Amino acid sequence: MIDLLGLIKDTNAYKTVKGDKDSGRLSHAYLFLTPDGENLTEYLKIFAKLIDCEEWGCCGKCRTCKLIESNGFADVILYPTDGETVTSEQVNALISESFVKPIESERKIFLITNAQTMNTQAQNKLLKTLEEPPKNVHILIGSTSEFPLLSTIKSRVKKLQIPSFSAEKLFNALKKDYPDEESLLSAIACGDGTVGTAILNYSDQTLKELTELCLEVIVDMQSSSEVLEYSNKITSSKCDFNKFLSVMELLYRDLLVYFEGKESLISNVKALEKLKGAKGYKTGSILSALEKITEASMRKKFNANATMLTEWLLFQILEGKYKWQKL
Ligand SMILES: [Zn+2]
Repeated sequence: MIDLLGLIKDTNAYKTVKGDKDSGRLSHAYLFLTPDGENLTEYLKIFAKLIDCEEWGCCGKCRTCKLIESNGFADVILYPTDGETVTSEQVNALISESFVKPIESERKIFLITNAQTMNTQAQNKLLKTLEEPPKNVHILIGSTSEFPLLSTIKSRVKKLQIPSFSAEKLFNALKKDYPDEESLLSAIACGDGTVGTAILNYSDQTLKELTELCLEVIVDMQSSSEVLEYSNKITSSKCDFNKFLSVMELLYRDLLVYFEGKESLISNVKALEKLKGAKGYKTGSILSALEKITEASMRKKFNANATMLTEWLLFQILEGKYKWQKL
C-alpha cells in the first residue's frame, strides 16, 4: 500500500492538526485543500486517525486506526454515504447524527469528501452546523478547490493546504507498488505533484509512446523538411497537447542539466541515454527551446490551434539550433 501518511507527515497541515490535538485545541471544523482528488478521502481518513488514534499521532496499527481505515469506526462517519456528492438530504442526516452521542470515543468526527461538488443549498445547510456545532463534534471537509465553497463556510473552518509533493518524495512513496522505474519517473515528471496523477500517468501507455516520440524529435529531427512529418506523428498520436509540451519540457530540462554536468538532477535517467545522442545543441539553443515551449503553452491557453502550434514549435526549435550553431 502507498505510504500516504509518510508523504503528508511533513506538511504544515499535518503538523497543525497534530499540534491542535496535543494542546487540546482541536478546531470544530477543518477544510483540507489538495489538488489530489483521487486521494482526498484517504487524506481525510489520515486526519481522523490522527485525531482519534489510541497511541501517539497516527499509528495505523491500533484498533481505532484500523477501524477508521476500513470505514468501520462508529464515531467517524464519511460523507457522501451514497453517490459522488454530499446532497442537502445527506447534510440533514449529518446534522441529526451530530446530536447523537459518540459510542466508542469521546468525540464524533464527520468527514466530507469532494466538497467542491456540493451545491449551494447543501452548503448553506452545513453552514448552520458549522456556526453552532454540538459539543465534541469535529467536521473535516476535503476539497480540491476552495472556489466552489461559500465564503461563509470558509470563514468558519480552519483552512489547511495539502500541497503538491516533490518528485523525490513521490518516487520514494510509490516505487514499491509501481516498480518500473522509467515509467514511474516520467509519470511523476509529467504529473502535477500529486499521488493521483502520478498513478494515472504510470499506466498511461500513450505517455510512454509520447516520450519516445519527443525523444525522436529532439534527437533525430535535423532539418525543416522533416517538421511536417514529425508534427503529423505528434498530432496523430492520441496524446493531449499539454502533455506533449510537458514531456518536451522535461526532456529539454534533462538535456540542460546534463550539459551542466549535474547528472544527479536528471529526472528521466533512461531517456538520458538517448538524449546524449542529440547533436547540434548548445546551452543557448536548449534554453531557447524551453522558452518556446512556455510560449506555446501560453498560446494554447488563448485557444490557438494545436496542429499549427506543434508545427510552429518544431520550427522554432530548429531555428534556435541554427542560430546558436552560427554563434
Ligand atoms: Zn492508532
